[in-house]
Amino acid sequence: MQQLRCYGDDRNNGFCVHCGGPSETIDHVPSKVLLDEPYPENLMAAPACRECNNGLSLEEEYLACLLECVIAGDIAPEKLHRAKIGRILRANSSLLTRLQRARTDGAEGPVWAAENDRVSRVILKLARCHAAFELNEPQLHEPSRLGFKPLSLMTEKERTAFESDDDAFDVWPEVGSRAMQRLLVAGTDTFTEGWLAVQEGNYRFHTSQANGLTVKIVLREYLGCEVVWD
Ligand SMILES: [Zn+2]
Repeated sequence: MQQLRCYGDDRNNGFCVHCGGPSETIDHVPSKVLLDEPYPENLMAAPACRECNNGLSLEEEYLACLLECVIAGDIAPEKLHRAKIGRILRANSSLLTRLQRARTDGAEGPVWAAENDRVSRVILKLARCHAAFELNEPQLHEPSRLGFKPLSLMTEKERTAFESDDDAFDVWPEVGSRAMQRLLVAGTDTFTEGWLAVQEGNYRFHTSQANGLTVKIVLREYLGCEVVWD
């Protein structure tokens, strides 16, 4: 990915983008468990305190593994598409058991009961990093809305609205922010309709400030996530 310097307001830097605590570490977004090697160069990153940066790694691992099992319709590590996730599950029998328990057989195939709280926490962490890095607008407070849904379960109308970029720049991003610069350099990265693909098939996201601050993320071209701060 092209590395863009942020020329936005410096007062929005220098603290943990999740809790406002000390800037002790760099939180890469997306976390590497959501990507495969070779990793994209110049991954986005935001300042974070140690606790926020490391505190959700098990949740992130859980979500990455859950998604692979759902997509493969199977829990057996050798059946999964991402080799990395197969390795994680082979080494982590308690997570494997947990995912096995989440699976039941429905009439049209396996049904998975996601641990929604854990999924939500990971999505919020990702969205906060994007808000801080992309828009230079750290959002320390709770979002007004956080939702996620498989793309395949969205109605046509929901999907169109989710993918759309129609009103994304009614409010222009902060001058100097990376989002503003991307408006000017679109074409150097995989950048379609306002979506930025960090890694094809694994992770893409979209930020806008049209109706509040909205961060949309698609994981594995399967799960659509949306976080809104009014
Ligand atoms: Zn923190």
